[in-house]
Amino acid sequence: MNTQDRLNFVNGAFAPAKDGAWLDDLAPATGQVIARIPRSTKADVDAAVAAAKTALPAWAKTPVAERAALLDRVADLLEARLDEIAEVESRDTGKPLALAMSLDIPRAISNFRFFADLVRTKTDDASMMADALNYTHRSPVGVCALVTPWNLPLYLLSWKTAPALAMGNTLVAKPSELTPLTASLLAEILNEAGCPPGVFNLVHGLGAEAGDALVSHPDVALVSFTGGTATGAKVAAAAAPQFKKLSLELGGKNPSLVFADCDFEKTVPGVTRSAFLNQGQICLCGSRILVERSIHDRFVDALLEELKAWKVGDPSDPATKIGAGISAAHRDKVEGYFNLALEEGGTIRCGGTRPPLPPPLRDGFFLEPTVITGLPATCRTATEEIFGPVVTVHPFDTEDEALQMANGTKYGLAASVWTSDLTRAHRVSQALESGMVWVNTWLHRDLRVPFGGVKASGVGREGGRNSLEFFSEAKNICVKLD
Ligand code: NDP
Repeated sequence: MNTQDRLNFVNGAFAPAKDGAWLDDLAPATGQVIARIPRSTKADVDAAVAAAKTALPAWAKTPVAERAALLDRVADLLEARLDEIAEVESRDTGKPLALAMSLDIPRAISNFRFFADLVRTKTDDASMMADALNYTHRSPVGVCALVTPWNLPLYLLSWKTAPALAMGNTLVAKPSELTPLTASLLAEILNEAGCPPGVFNLVHGLGAEAGDALVSHPDVALVSFTGGTATGAKVAAAAAPQFKKLSLELGGKNPSLVFADCDFEKTVPGVTRSAFLNQGQICLCGSRILVERSIHDRFVDALLEELKAWKVGDPSDPATKIGAGISAAHRDKVEGYFNLALEEGGTIRCGGTRPPLPPPLRDGFFLEPTVITGLPATCRTATEEIFGPVVTVHPFDTEDEALQMANGTKYGLAASVWTSDLTRAHRVSQALESGMVWVNTWLHRDLRVPFGGVKASGVGREGGRNSLEFFSEAKNICVKLD
């Protein structure tokens, strides 16, 4: 076996695909192959689901304290290997190492600790009647399918794995084939932490093969999917006839609303970060910036100035703020939008090109951060999800116009509002068609709050209690009191 091969993890053992097929895993910063993963088929998925089904009764009966203790051990083991795991995540995704060190892996650790604490301290609802007591009993849903994307691989997998295990479910995870490495490290760590065989299973492979076989499997009772809207529609269509429990966290085209009364000095770096963090490849990134006309030109100038500090290049360099995009195909897609923006009458104010980098980075999938002005807010460039280091900036005259522009896409995941007027902040936030709104901040995450989108950005909510509720079935028990 090649030392760079990563394996599936099924029933407590690492194994290649049953038919021996492999996929190459590339480093986005160099375009070079760094590992091979199993190209799993339905047979591999069937084995993983069968293992999860067999492990379910014992895990469901395992006391909550023991399940929580497992999650804490996983957090400790991740923390002990933080540097190594961050390096792997950066190599596999192309994101700056500093970002993986400060955001991705610390968040994965907190996800395990947070859900351990939450499940230990959770209480159940009770409702008294004059002659009866109702209480809510929560049991595991069953075998869960967790399907995750390439932009925040371990962060999002841990966000689903921790509550699923905490509530007594067993699971099969299918990470993106573009970023499989930290999922394999998580399997190792769960194994080392004493997770019983079959409770956590990992199947690598392509979405249309392993992913589809998993979400369609009759013994899978729940699907938690994070990914693009078009894929989400396929997953929903596969899950619906079997009435699986379903959560879909999908794409976004999130507005940042900048009012003339904002704290300008804080707003410019805040909005820049929201647009370009992780190469703009976070579903929550603010990719359409709506600015009150009286400060529009000054804001664009300040944004362009701010971006001079956003160095593009070697992800391992601590000074790098923008690493590589995920793949050549994705870079082609983003570059297609540069051409479209010009056709639609826009002006590319900075970026719109590949940066000149020395080998081996010359073969990586880098793009300069790109700012486009002069486009109508209704055009394709301004309303379709690009998911790269690209923003469009649009002036508005009134609050109503800003809201109309903000709500004028099919998406509704997140938004940010930048103003010093507290009344306006509440009024605008409540009128936005969006699952989440940040005021004078962005990606300021409290793990207790609901997370999810409206319209084409998804169905259902995870986060805090919502995750514990999603990963369990509520039963009302009514006891007559004589
Ligand atoms: P995709 O939708 O392409 O893929 C997501 C996952 O689904 C991958 O593991 C993929 O596997 C798998 N998949 C693909 N086809 C199927 C199928 N038919 N059945 C089951 N699984 C399938 O998304 P990306 O990986 O390209 O991620 C980017 C998208 O994710 C963006 O649109 C972004 O907005 C969204 N996203 C949403 C978030 C949210 O919380 N709302 C958070 C992060 C990202 P494979 O990659 O192997 O094909």
